[in-house]
Amino acid sequence: MLGFGKKSGSGNASGYLRDEQLKFKVIINTIEDGVVLIANQGTVQLFNPGAGKISGWNPEEATGISVHAVMKFVDEKNKPYALTDNPLQKVFDTGQTIRDNSAFLVTRSNKSLPISLNVTPLIDDSSNVTGAVAVFRNVTEEREEEQRRADFISTASNEMRTPVAAIEGYLSLALNEKVATIDNRARDYLEKAHSSTQHLGQLFQDLLTSAKAEDGRLSSHPIVIEMGSFLQQVTDDMKFAAEKKGLFAEFVTGSGKTINATGKDLGETVVRPLYYTLVDPDRLREVITNLFDNAVKYTDQGKISIGLTGDKEVVQMYVRDTGPGVPAEDQPHLFQKFYRVDNSATRTIGGTGLGLFICRKIVELYNGRIWIESELGKGSTFFINFPRLDTKKATELQAADASNPQLQPISSLATS
Ligand code: ADP
Repeated sequence: MLGFGKKSGSGNASGYLRDEQLKFKVIINTIEDGVVLIANQGTVQLFNPGAGKISGWNPEEATGISVHAVMKFVDEKNKPYALTDNPLQKVFDTGQTIRDNSAFLVTRSNKSLPISLNVTPLIDDSSNVTGAVAVFRNVTEEREEEQRRADFISTASNEMRTPVAAIEGYLSLALNEKVATIDNRARDYLEKAHSSTQHLGQLFQDLLTSAKAEDGRLSSHPIVIEMGSFLQQVTDDMKFAAEKKGLFAEFVTGSGKTINATGKDLGETVVRPLYYTLVDPDRLREVITNLFDNAVKYTDQGKISIGLTGDKEVVQMYVRDTGPGVPAEDQPHLFQKFYRVDNSATRTIGGTGLGLFICRKIVELYNGRIWIESELGKGSTFFINFPRLDTKKATELQAADASNPQLQPISSLATS
């Protein structure tokens, strides 16, 4: 039997123990959180009243049977957890504390409740996992509150976009020499007002997009894309913005020419690999544009390269700049909402801190991954990996899409 607390010593040990046990019982029985003690064979050893209240199981019934019979988890799409992903199994497999804030607990009456779950292993002196303690909480109210907040943000930003667009339009008119006559001082003020209004418009747009991304309402129509030609096109379209600031912009991929070891062009054309993936082109363009705009915004001189490479499984693209770089301690937080690096190199440049958060949300929508590699003073590279579709699968999906335009989305075919 597993136990908590210290072993009893000498003297008035039994009184002390009784007190300790009493305190332990009082806490376990009154705490609202669910607490479950699991033996290493996976049987429930203790199921407190809090756990009973959340799960609908009577603690006496739950004790002594497999924890997997009592605590069943599903994800947000109501799909049951595979055993290997189940925190109550993972804790024994890894010997590490497992936290899961996205699980739903299926109650005894088959209702799914959002929970916040923490499972800690009990480890003996020889490093064996002898059991585990699961602590969980019903977070329905918090989730509803978050939802209300997100709804408010989307409604407010949506409503505010229209007047802001109108103000921006009138300011543009006032600044247009063919339409209005203003003196130089007024022009200076109006230009500042115009640029702040544009910033405000962008902020509302970003808030709206990030609220949608958070609750899964981002519209998405994935199709098969050949990344080489797609990125070439996107680079051509964006080049001008970089050149305006005196920066060189290029698209880099397999050269399409054979070279020898000295780098001499042998003049033979080789076939450039075709990198297919399944994404919504508009969403992907949003991501690349965001990374490219950041690269232009934060880089004073040098060049911006958009690159493409990959292997059998993965399509990898990157946006590289010769800008100030991002300090190592900021890198893990860069893709969080509203995160901006607070250093002299970038602080004075306007932004919302939402761009990279939105990029991450979009990339994750297509099972991709985004990250940064950067050294201070030496520039930054933002990488994105997407699962690669082989040419056969890509052609099949394209054919299915072309022959049956009404029966989209193609994404459902890809997973079939
Ligand atoms: P924003 O640019 O609107 O502030 P982002 O989410 O796009 O928001 O970027 C977050 C922060 O990451 C920026 O404020 C900036 O400090 C840093 N950052 C992003 N891209 C770069 C880059 N290419 N070079 C240097 N710093 C960058």
